[in-house]
Amino acid sequence: MKQKIKNKGKSFVEWLKYGDKEIGHLYKGGLASTRREFRGVKDTMVDYVNWLKIWGVMMAFTSKAPYKIARGFFTYRWMPSYLGVPAFVDRNSMGLRGNMLKICHENFRRVVEAGTVYIANMMIADTRFGDGDEELSKKIVLFDEMTMSQIMGGFPNLIGIPYQLMPVFLVSEIDQLICIPYIDAIESFGLPSDTCPVPTSEAGAAVLDAYPLMGSCFIASTMPCDGSVMASSYQERRFKIPTYPLCFPVRYHDEDVLFSGVEDIKGCIKFIEEHTGEKWSWDAYFENMKRYNEELDLEMERWAINKTNYPQIFGSTSALYREFAYQIDGGLDPRTLKTYKKVNAIMEDGYEKRLPITRHHRYRAIVWSCPSHYYANFPSWLSACWGITVLADMEMLNYDKPLNVEDEDEAFKDLARVYSRMVMRKHTNGGYENVLPELWKVVEEYNADIVIMYQHVACKTMVGLQGLFDEQARERGIHLIWVPHDLMDPRTVSRKEMRQSVNRYMEAVMGATPVDPSLVDFDDERTW
Ligand code: SF4
Repeated sequence: MKQKIKNKGKSFVEWLKYGDKEIGHLYKGGLASTRREFRGVKDTMVDYVNWLKIWGVMMAFTSKAPYKIARGFFTYRWMPSYLGVPAFVDRNSMGLRGNMLKICHENFRRVVEAGTVYIANMMIADTRFGDGDEELSKKIVLFDEMTMSQIMGGFPNLIGIPYQLMPVFLVSEIDQLICIPYIDAIESFGLPSDTCPVPTSEAGAAVLDAYPLMGSCFIASTMPCDGSVMASSYQERRFKIPTYPLCFPVRYHDEDVLFSGVEDIKGCIKFIEEHTGEKWSWDAYFENMKRYNEELDLEMERWAINKTNYPQIFGSTSALYREFAYQIDGGLDPRTLKTYKKVNAIMEDGYEKRLPITRHHRYRAIVWSCPSHYYANFPSWLSACWGITVLADMEMLNYDKPLNVEDEDEAFKDLARVYSRMVMRKHTNGGYENVLPELWKVVEEYNADIVIMYQHVACKTMVGLQGLFDEQARERGIHLIWVPHDLMDPRTVSRKEMRQSVNRYMEAVMGATPVDPSLVDFDDERTW
């Protein structure tokens, strides 16, 4: 009887075939949802098998060093939050069926697989307890998480780890409450509370000793913006290992400043050689970047399909995978290319058959500005609640030219180009042209009806352009929906308040009715 009410308008046979029509009732305000979404018999099986595979990846990870990993769970506050990974994938696959459900699982499984390798290496090498694997630790080069990984392609015997990625960046997308202690700790050290939560949390994690201790050296960076300069200065004092500051010019379009980036890259390579005893190998670098270029071709294929009337991938599933492949993996692991091929084959199949991307697709949308980490699956909610399909995200539209894999001088220049256009930086820095005209170009290319405009209250460049965004959207007749958030601090603007800003616009301006009314208002303040 209860099920009948929640799926009104559907017979039992239809329910078996298509699954839950309304899924908001799965959220009751607790840590986890009351049960998994029922997607119809066939898709529930697909979902369940993939859910088991995620657990399989996590179990395989714990078997790499059971004692040290178990000790990490009781030492580092961010480690237990990774138990929320399956719930995170569930949130990102909310309402999905068919091809899009499979794509979502393929992409996220690869990211989880890579993440577990980083954590395992960190736990095994951690010298905090006096039993860290020193051989492994010497091979590790730590990077600021805002730095690209491509340089490590020329050092095949070393392991590059984006240092803050697992203790701060990625975990903040899985557990919305994890960064609060970091933020409070560094603010009690005197950091102004209007600083962006990304560098704030990174610096706070250093103050709370949330980073396992390891590595031969650290590559700090000034990217994407001034906040990183502050975070680097706090972190360097804690890490106590040799640090190289990689500082790319902000006005990256100006080819006159390219030489400065090239010199910085050369200096960084020399620094790594000095501190690890390894030699840079052009052969290894070119081999890895050929793979990176192949991945880029496949990414371009995804963009091309999404610009048509039959898009096949949407939301954080595509944006996060692109960020991962572009910046974190950087072409170094062949498994990333394998996933690209698998997903693109599913997309091509859907495109040839002219399959709708979701069963409730209504509006084509673009997401612009830096997204909220504590609501990384916001595009999934947009789709499931209002039928708004996010076809492109500012975070994935980075450098889209292949890197030179033949000429050493040209290869250095391309490295400088790709590094200065890391995720977030390309459209938040480097001048007005990178932010506004670029957005309207993307809107046109993707034939978008709506722009979801994140209003991150501490991202100064974007905040400074707010009036111009409004004015130019009005002139062009584009629906621009402002969604405020505070990136890693859900206390400033909650997930619920983010949803309210869309609900109000859709009801008052668009006169729309929700696809799933049960998702308009629900409680998830305490969920992962
Ligand atoms: S969100 Fe804005 S302020 Fe924060 S790190 Fe990114 S570019 Fe900088």
